[in-house]
Amino acid sequence: MKIIVVGSGLGGLLSAAYLAKNGHEVEVFEALPIIGGRFTNIDYKGFKLSTGALHMVPHGNSGPLAQMLKELDADVNIVPSNPSTVIRMPANKNDTDYKNGYMDMSFHDFKIPFSFINRLKIAVLAFTTRYFPPKKGTFEDWIKNHINERWATRIANSFCGWSISLKSSDVSAKEVFAIISNLYLHSGPGVPIGGCKGVTDALLEITHKNGGRVYTSKEVSEIIINNNHAKGVIANGDRYYSDIVISDIGHIETKQLCKNAAKTNEYIQYINQLQDVRPSAGIKISLACDEPLIGHGGVVLTPFARRIDGINEVTNVDPKLAPEGKHLVMTHQCLHWNRIDDIEKEIELGIQDIKDIFPDKKFDVLMVQSYHDGWPVNRSASSQDIPNKTPISGLYIVGDGAKGEGGIEVEGITLGVSNTLDMILS
Ligand SMILES: Cc1cc2nc3c(=O)[nH]c(=O)nc-3n(C[C@H](O)[C@H](O)[C@H](O)COP(=O)(O)OP(=O)(O)OC[C@H]3O[C@@H](n4cnc5c(N)ncnc54)[C@H](O)[C@@H]3O)c2cc1C
Repeated sequence: MKIIVVGSGLGGLLSAAYLAKNGHEVEVFEALPIIGGRFTNIDYKGFKLSTGALHMVPHGNSGPLAQMLKELDADVNIVPSNPSTVIRMPANKNDTDYKNGYMDMSFHDFKIPFSFINRLKIAVLAFTTRYFPPKKGTFEDWIKNHINERWATRIANSFCGWSISLKSSDVSAKEVFAIISNLYLHSGPGVPIGGCKGVTDALLEITHKNGGRVYTSKEVSEIIINNNHAKGVIANGDRYYSDIVISDIGHIETKQLCKNAAKTNEYIQYINQLQDVRPSAGIKISLACDEPLIGHGGVVLTPFARRIDGINEVTNVDPKLAPEGKHLVMTHQCLHWNRIDDIEKEIELGIQDIKDIFPDKKFDVLMVQSYHDGWPVNRSASSQDIPNKTPISGLYIVGDGAKGEGGIEVEGITLGVSNTLDMILS
């Protein structure tokens, strides 16, 4: 079978590598001069910054992505973060682990700031929700109904902001509990050696090794459709034919490429039903420093901060992500839809937060990147379970525009790719 893939993001390359390795003829078309989409590196002053992701795989070396990479025999090493996540909280001098006005609590050990009753409640809920997760309402509503303390909502916002770039009021409780249940099942995050590029380059290599072709600077302007079946693409004015087309650019952008199809109206209706599909937006600030600011390879959630949701320091896992003797620290903050018009102010608040979080440390701001609209954090915000199928036969969508329930970031992309491959190959 011949398959054309539009876009070389993680979803496109995972699909291409798998299909090429399984004996299919594969061609990938990428509009940009580089491959990897929002999951590759940018070299800047000797630092390996990224085009999007924070150089982290949400379920480390045991989640869906790691499993698929193992199945493909990909040359990728994902180092589990230890500790996986800590919550930084303001503290008093007599608190154990006090340091510079803060202490770091483990994700499973809410020493402060909750009352004894609420700590008991959290322990009971942690157990019962594994078997009876909530089905309705937003995560914020759920938190307020169960542990009505200010810090509970702030921790919930910080967790959702870091992991899916949403406020807890913009994601369903069902989705967050599906994510938490996957965290129990597969463990917490890990850092791939070589950063995001370590993963996408390995997939490129598998695709090439198995005869697949990956073209850069070739933008697809149309998907060729005959009798409502996708038959290929037009890229840079040339026609390329195939049995199947997989698009890694989301439903809305893909529909715009279906210019000549009787089913286009059906596709438009289908997209209209998904009109609440909104990308999630965010701001990432990359810092350079001589001394570690964090000292481990896990995530530090910062619920007390005005804007920053969390921080990581990936050079504690892979020192080569920075020049010798330097560290690379990245902060992430959710950019709420209501604030997209005020990005400058949001960045300023983020930088102010960083100064407050590390009052006595020296660092330089290397780069500030904002992600929204056509280059967002996620093409469809989590909790919108968007199918990989389209109304046009032989045309499928992968990537973060069509992820399944509980599939956090690239883990969700992997679940969508597996689902798509099952449909194509069955
Ligand atoms: C700030 C930030 C932090 C994040 N942190 C993490 C993290 O730590 N861990 C994690 O798992 N995820 C993280 N994510 C999410 C993750 O980066 C994305 O979900 C993922 O990289 C998206 O992959 P994709 O397959 O959907 O495709 P994309 O990366 O969107 O790739 C699509 C590709 O298609 C190309 N293209 C578009 N139109 C055309 C066309 N017409 N013809 C040809 N090519 C075309 C684009 O140029 C692009 O290269 C983060 C994202 C951001 C922005």
